Amino acid sequence: MSTHFAPSSDGASATVTVLGLGPMGRALAGAFLDAGLRTTVWNRTPGRDAELVARGATGAHSAEEAVAASALTVLCVVNYDAGDAILRRDEVAAALKGRTLVNLSADTPDRARDTADWAARHGVRYLDGAIMTPTPSIGTPDAVFLYSGPADVYEEHRPVLDVLGGSHTHLGEDVGRAAAYDVALLDVFWTSMAGYAHALAVARAEGVTARELTPYAQGIAAILPPLMEEFAGDVDSGTYSGELNPITSAASTMSHIVHASESHGIDASVMRAIEGQARRVVALGHGTDGYLRVTELLGRR
Ligand code: NDP
Repeated sequence: MSTHFAPSSDGASATVTVLGLGPMGRALAGAFLDAGLRTTVWNRTPGRDAELVARGATGAHSAEEAVAASALTVLCVVNYDAGDAILRRDEVAAALKGRTLVNLSADTPDRARDTADWAARHGVRYLDGAIMTPTPSIGTPDAVFLYSGPADVYEEHRPVLDVLGGSHTHLGEDVGRAAAYDVALLDVFWTSMAGYAHALAVARAEGVTARELTPYAQGIAAILPPLMEEFAGDVDSGTYSGELNPITSAASTMSHIVHASESHGIDASVMRAIEGQARRVVALGHGTDGYLRVTELLGRR
């Protein structure tokens, strides 16, 4: 449950607008409503606001009408092309002038900086953000929100943002920083999911079901957090100890995955690329280092 928002001294509820009513936008708007905020919503395709309006939200007829209703607008659409399609019209820019826009859509750091430049040119106070947890987490202690941009804007709107539940972290004034975290963390997520999907295909080809493999897959996944903890300092300092598992050994196990996959006609191109990177590290003379030495190789132009 999210916390209830305290009304101001004149008894008025704080106002907030949500633009974009996909699954995440609807979850955000729902959490604002649960907390007692006067919530205005708008979505490109009409009709997505029905349930929220039934719960007390105001459904605006246009994006400019929606942003004019609140001091704070939260934008949550598929990407920044979609955000631009909504924001970069004269009527919307004029309605947003002097107000705050928090962009919780996902995209790249460059797009975040570009949107911040647009906002500055139009007198819009701008924070960029990223949501790192799925929709059911919104309004619960499990939600994770990251922000970047002007600290004073963040502090001013923090009481409203807090009702979304979970943890809220301001990563600094570089407005691209939340998207930098988002892209890096989604990299971890999608490469892990791709590895799991590939593992299930190889296991199935060997007659092992997903249900049979999964408890062991969970065990492998659980090894990763302590390894990340152990090696983060090494990566930052440029030391890559391979004492317990040198990259030559790692490359050998990668080749087993390639061969087993291809013996079943399963595409092993991702693992081939990963093995290739490890073997290049060995060829560069770092065969006694650990696997994460590959981080430096990837950074080379
Ligand atoms: P989607 O990523 O599918 O986004 C749907 C929203 O984008 C709808 O409001 C849709 O409007 C709008 N949209 C798409 N194209 C355009 C366009 N050209 N112009 C205007 N609006 C457009 O669903 P989510 O709500 O789940 O995600 C929203 C954001 O939240 C994304 O950036 C996503 O990465 C992020 N996020 C989502 C999570 C989740 O669990 N769902 C978790 C963490 C982050 P319409 O209805 O008109 O198509």
